[in-house]
Amino acid sequence: MHLHQLLAILITLAGLAYSCIHGPTELNNAIEEPATSQDQLQPEPVPMPGFDPVDVEDQSQRLHLQLRGITQQPNYQCGPKYGTCPSGTCCSSAGFCGTTTAHCRSPDCMLDYGLCDTHRSPKGPLTKDIPRPHIGRVPYGPQEIRSCTVPGTIALTFDDGPTRYTGDLLDLLDRYDAPATFFITGINNGKGPIDDPSLPWADLIERMTISGHQIASHTWSHEDLSKITAEQRQDQMLKNEVAIRNILGSFPTYMRPPYSSCVPGSGCREALGDLGYHIVLYDFDTDDYKNDSPNLIQLSKDIFDRFLNAGNSKTNSWLIIAHDAHEQTVHNLTEHMLKTSARLGYRPVTVGDCLRDPRDNWYRADSSWTGHQNKKKSPQKGPKKSNAPQQISVDGTCGANYTCLGSRFGICCSSKNLCGNTTSHCGHGCKKEAGYCAVHVPSNGDAWDPLSPGSKGAKSEADSNGRVVGTAAVTSLVLALIVAMWM
Ligand SMILES: [Zn+2]
Repeated sequence: MHLHQLLAILITLAGLAYSCIHGPTELNNAIEEPATSQDQLQPEPVPMPGFDPVDVEDQSQRLHLQLRGITQQPNYQCGPKYGTCPSGTCCSSAGFCGTTTAHCRSPDCMLDYGLCDTHRSPKGPLTKDIPRPHIGRVPYGPQEIRSCTVPGTIALTFDDGPTRYTGDLLDLLDRYDAPATFFITGINNGKGPIDDPSLPWADLIERMTISGHQIASHTWSHEDLSKITAEQRQDQMLKNEVAIRNILGSFPTYMRPPYSSCVPGSGCREALGDLGYHIVLYDFDTDDYKNDSPNLIQLSKDIFDRFLNAGNSKTNSWLIIAHDAHEQTVHNLTEHMLKTSARLGYRPVTVGDCLRDPRDNWYRADSSWTGHQNKKKSPQKGPKKSNAPQQISVDGTCGANYTCLGSRFGICCSSKNLCGNTTSHCGHGCKKEAGYCAVHVPSNGDAWDPLSPGSKGAKSEADSNGRVVGTAAVTSLVLALIVAMWM
């Protein structure tokens, strides 16, 4: 081999390596997708920390030119004009083959011209053959649902998560005791599959259910359901079902099409109906994805105030779309919506509740699912009896020697070694060795939920009544004994 050939190969390899590390231009291109008035396009750019797409674009463009000039690499470009990528590589939205997150992240990645995240599949049994009867009175596809039916309710919905902001949003909703609905996407924006135990997403989804929120589907990888084949569309729904089932033991009956796109004539609405889904859109758009900066988010707040002030909580209700993929939505807009709606007399509820659909109808059970290996013996509801040689907590603290099970302070042991029944006790950081943790949602989809409206009152009432009765009985017995001894 001649020296100049060797040099050319080395330069090519160096260029490819650089491109892999820094990624090409598709992040920027994805951001510039046009929005239409009907379909709410959500560009969802979530750049990596310290990642400057503009800078990368210039450098990357230069490299691509160099590559083409020196090597005439025939397979580097891809797409409708150039064809598919070499086996095992992804075709980015800008039309370049590669294997980085920037190349393979869906929905930007071109799924017909190479590998994409969308082609990955969650592990575990398929859900395809699970029966899908249309239970309840809320219409299923092909009909679309655009508004709530219960006056005075406001259903806040958040699409595209979980994301790095979702934990903060759950904290906020907990503080306001405000149930919401999360339209979950399984593997979008390079975040990895939601059921991967090494990622934070599954814990967040579990936390949503124990905080009384509703989980709904927003497809596996956020493809436009009107623009893909019937088979790809079914994949988008079924893969997300398997991933959510892997976390919760059941999967949702409610969904929202990405970009709100499920157009007549595409077969989309009918197919979703056949799969047993309610197709949920919205009657109020916060435009939060357009206003995700401290300077612009006031625009979304103004629209919100204008709409709500024009209505009346005695007769109106609202089904509102927002996105927990956006920082300003989570750290700014949502609290404003919660405060304003409360001041005007609206009650925050889930989509299922704003349609008067019983909670049992929100999910489909997978009766064949036995859960994770270490969860096989988990209780289906409430605490289990512990065989550990621990004493029951007498002062509300818990840990290696004291369990919350059987104590009067609550059944879950928090990360701060305190017994209680709230999300902060039973959710993330909960100590399984010293009490019950809400790590598994029963297979009927009806989460054990100490915080949900109704169950909170009923449960705490029952508990406190029990304690009062018990204390009174003990007191009477002691008094009787004293009286007997005295006599
Ligand atoms: Zn979306």
